[in-house]
Amino acid sequence: MTDTINIISLKEEILNGNKVALAKGITLVESNKSEHRVLADDLINSLLPFSGNSLRIGITGVPGVGKSTFIEAIGLDLIKKHNKKVAVLAIDPSSSISGGSILGDKTRMNELSHQKDAFIRPSSNRGYLGGVAHHTRESIVLCEAAGFDYVIVETVGVGQSEITVSSMVDVFVLLMLPGAGDELQGIKRGIMEMANIIIINKAEGALLNKAKEAAKSYQMAMHLFPVKHNQWKTEVALISALNRKGIEKVIEILEKFKRENTENGSIQLERIRQNLFSFNQLIQGMVDRLINEHKPLNELKIELEAKLKEG
Ligand code: GDP
Repeated sequence: MTDTINIISLKEEILNGNKVALAKGITLVESNKSEHRVLADDLINSLLPFSGNSLRIGITGVPGVGKSTFIEAIGLDLIKKHNKKVAVLAIDPSSSISGGSILGDKTRMNELSHQKDAFIRPSSNRGYLGGVAHHTRESIVLCEAAGFDYVIVETVGVGQSEITVSSMVDVFVLLMLPGAGDELQGIKRGIMEMANIIIINKAEGALLNKAKEAAKSYQMAMHLFPVKHNQWKTEVALISALNRKGIEKVIEILEKFKRENTENGSIQLERIRQNLFSFNQLIQGMVDRLINEHKPLNELKIELEAKLKEG
């Protein structure tokens, strides 16, 4: 990226829904160069007043459950049947840990990616999860300013990243496979508790009965979890993403979630909480960096850690 970025024209182009400009803006907010950071802050600040109008959807599930197949199916329906604009951002925890990628390698969401009203952005493949999360939050703002009605943030269900994603979305969707017994043990209880919608994918053919049983078990398990502050009761849906079955029902549930939680103010309230959380995380990061860069304090920290290790 050259350093002759004109933030005013970039802002205008993003507000006009120009996807090339949107991609450029996201590259800017993902950049770790300090001169880019200043420009990125200008861009975010100028676009913040135009943000906030999408439904922010988090989607997670183990590799192979069908996340990209589902996002392709629901994205196409939202665009073609509901005249909406859909952006997809991915958070890939594997990229920051191993340098490899679970989400990025294969050609994903091929048909969706060719739609005029779709925007798909793989993860930045850089930095630690907290940093990636911060960039994703900013990317959501840019997508909203560009007029996207739905911003889908996708992550792989392998641990910490779900918590990060749930701290930046309005509604959290967990994709599962038929076969409740195994899955109930495999997926962490905390992740199920976070889910607003549980979708059982591949509910078709020989797996349909298993999927229905799974749906019942999840519904029962949900009663054991505390009711969420917004009073929303987790819904369970059966789909076949591959056959594009059950997708409309999921859209209905999402719309119901949006309607109810807009009316009772909980989406707004939750976003304020998320902003506070993110702000505190940023400050925490700054304090950590200050300590690490301040020689005497850092030495003291190392010395105290050594003493703790000795008991
Ligand atoms: P991801 O890793 O969670 O993104 O999963 P993918 O969307 O890449 O899907 C993994 C595999 O499952 C692919 O071979 C898909 O074609 C297949 N798949 C996805 N959804 C369904 C479904 O509803 N039924 C069946 N039978 N296969 C599916």
